[in-house]
Amino acid sequence: MTRRLGSERLVIATHNAGKLREISALLGPFGLDCVSAGDLGLPEPEETGTTFVENALIKARAAAEASGLPALADDSGLSVDALGGRPGVYTADWAERQWFEGDPGRDWYMAMGKVEGMLQALGPAAERAAQFNCVLAVAWPDGESAVYEGVVRGSLVWPPRGLRGFGYDPVFVAQGRAETFGEMDPEAKHAISHRADAFAKLVTEQFGD
Ligand code: IMP
Repeated sequence: MTRRLGSERLVIATHNAGKLREISALLGPFGLDCVSAGDLGLPEPEETGTTFVENALIKARAAAEASGLPALADDSGLSVDALGGRPGVYTADWAERQWFEGDPGRDWYMAMGKVEGMLQALGPAAERAAQFNCVLAVAWPDGESAVYEGVVRGSLVWPPRGLRGFGYDPVFVAQGRAETFGEMDPEAKHAISHRADAFAKLVTEQFGD
């Protein structure tokens, strides 16, 4: 029997205000009082794992230990079949760029171009299948944990299409769809996304009958 979250406060192990809003909204209906690791002033651990599960657990465990409260963390990214699963856990890193000295930023068009360049280098017949993964990890202060994995399969298109969404959305078309995630209505994307899949599993196990 998996351990369940009670009515105590839950730390969302992120320093990203957007993620906190999204996760708090998803968990709001279950009566949880969410607070972010950023708001509690907890340090951000280094994501040294080589899998989404490892990195989500590193973040959730660090926040649970430091706060003495249960914590929830997520880790996500894009894995391209023909590239052996890359960029995978390094998805965000592939977008890192020094815009000018001392000011790092993320350039998603550069990152999408890098993936596309590697695919094209494999030749015109290269398999374009890819997936987004999302892992949610819950950790309790005594060391117990649970993980929930979500995935959406699809394929990569070029050139990028659509200005909605974020990250690699403009080059990803989910299986059975025609529009990229960047062109889709956000509600439609959220209904089928890797994050929705992982959340549905968490909600079923943590809050189901
Ligand atoms: P992290 O989970 O914050 O480490 O970020 C992983 C990276 O994966 C993000 O910065 C995005 O670029 C990419 N990513 C994760 N989910 C999505 C998505 O739904 N659409 C587009 N890109 C995504």
